[in-house]
Amino acid sequence: MPGFVFTDDFIEQVRGANDIVEVIGQQVHLEQKGKTLWGLCPFHAEKTPSFSVSTDKQMYYCFGCHASGTVFNFVMETAKLSFPEAVRTLAARANIPLPEAVADSPAVRAKRKERQLLYRVNQWTTDYFCSQLRQATDAKAARDYLARRGLAADLVEKMRIGYAPAGWTNLVEAAESSQVPLATLVQLGLIVPRQQSGYYDCFRARVMIPIADERGRVVAFGGRVLDDALPKYLNSPESVLFDKGRLLFGLHYASPFIGKAGCAVLVEGYMDCLAAWQYGVGHVVASLGTALTMPQARLLKRYTNQVILCYDADSSGLRAALRGLDILVKAGLQVKVATLPSGKDPDDCLRQQGADYFLQEILGKAQPITEFQLSMLRREYDLDTVDGKSQFVVAAASVLARLNNEVAKTAYAQRIAREIQVPEAAVFAELTKHTRTASPARGDKLGNSRDTTSVDLAAMTEPDPVLRGFQIAEDKLLGLVLNNVTGSEELLVAWQELDVYAYPIDRELVELLKDELQKGQVLDVRRLREQVTSPELGKRLAQVVWSDSLELENAAIVASDCLGKLKQLAIRCAIADVQKRLQKEVDVAIRKQLLQDLQILIEKQKGLRH
Ligand SMILES: [Zn+2]
Repeated sequence: MPGFVFTDDFIEQVRGANDIVEVIGQQVHLEQKGKTLWGLCPFHAEKTPSFSVSTDKQMYYCFGCHASGTVFNFVMETAKLSFPEAVRTLAARANIPLPEAVADSPAVRAKRKERQLLYRVNQWTTDYFCSQLRQATDAKAARDYLARRGLAADLVEKMRIGYAPAGWTNLVEAAESSQVPLATLVQLGLIVPRQQSGYYDCFRARVMIPIADERGRVVAFGGRVLDDALPKYLNSPESVLFDKGRLLFGLHYASPFIGKAGCAVLVEGYMDCLAAWQYGVGHVVASLGTALTMPQARLLKRYTNQVILCYDADSSGLRAALRGLDILVKAGLQVKVATLPSGKDPDDCLRQQGADYFLQEILGKAQPITEFQLSMLRREYDLDTVDGKSQFVVAAASVLARLNNEVAKTAYAQRIAREIQVPEAAVFAELTKHTRTASPARGDKLGNSRDTTSVDLAAMTEPDPVLRGFQIAEDKLLGLVLNNVTGSEELLVAWQELDVYAYPIDRELVELLKDELQKGQVLDVRRLREQVTSPELGKRLAQVVWSDSLELENAAIVASDCLGKLKQLAIRCAIADVQKRLQKEVDVAIRKQLLQDLQILIEKQKGLRH
């Protein structure tokens, strides 16, 4: 029911009537240990239980894949429903009648009706094309084509692949005799009005692939010719239902496989996707030939944190996809690039070499994005000449400057120096130039920029008892705030001023919580968990709730201790930042200034300890 908003009271009534242990217990075998119940995680493959459900908290959290949420999140995730749909499902489960849909205006209703009709007509058209693949007099060529592509009958059936026969009015006539409104077919770009009168079919003599959204509803079609006619591929035009920048082909089929594999493979077209599925490689989706967009990246991020791009090395599609890499990274995805032998697409590769080869040699050897970009650059320049080397270093430095991780940056720079046999200092000098132009103005009073705060910590990710201490301080602070202790808002403001985070994601969380408090909301961790769509934030919220660090007694004292701890962290970061700059700086005057800064910071650090 889009456009319909349930009241908080109603949501709480539904929540109260659906105990999370009962709801999850219907799908997952749970065993009680203390106040917590444990089972095998339904969101990732495992042999020993790391999925916990808490009666007290009325939330679940997986220590393996960090899936987390409330009873509503669980239903949303397992049944792939929107939040309102999950509320309705659980209301029905508890026999709670839905409230009157007050927010449903006639205009909203009319729009919904129109969309429902569009979906229905697409469904009818899918059925029609399927029947034509079996019956049309000229369909044998299409069936032969699919067989040549190695697609077995059961996959063809499951994916509802069909055939648009040759001729100009097959679909028009079939629609007329089934009383399907022609205006709707026009809206969907399946038929076109003639200049005089009547209509003609857009898709003729083509294999028809239904393009479905992530819920499996057909929103468009892709048509592939059987001969050398052009265009080889023809897609439905964009419509109310079909926005190709917001859609990934095959997600409805691939999503459970993506969950199991822990990553998604992105290929160029739907035929590659179908081929992969045919060979049992399920975690594959396709972009529809455009540069990747932010909505697509976010869509992927709902299902996984890791993406492997798998394109023909020489295709224009790869170039388009490379333009989208930054978007994927920005959406928080880890990106790798798998390159296929020149001139081959995944389909060729699978047919000629089989699934194991594809999984191990192609996907298994995918390069992290930076390595991939560097190897592309290496090909571009003549590294036997001095000119080529210096141009390569400049180009490589611009790639490295975008990295968020200092350790990785340094390691890459050292490797480049070794590889092309130039002094490390030369590569670092170039990198410093780029870093200066790439990073925002150096900021706060401690002399560290916003970026470096999380950078240094990213480098400390190995179990570090000191970092752990800071993390516990953050868990405690957030725990206090989520329990609405007095002075929560001031706590968050003070923390934002320090601008230091042992968990980088806490910057976002602190902002979110402060916003809520400033809107006059009482924080409710379950409602918050339901509202956040970012998996990272959701995971962090659950971590805080599950951490054993909560100390509600003497909240004020605990809070000020924790803030003190974060002040220490801020100074540590600032010191590390200055030291790092000192290592690379050659200018004597700047070095002198940096040494002075360092001295001041060390004094401050001592002051805090006493
Ligand atoms: Zn899990």
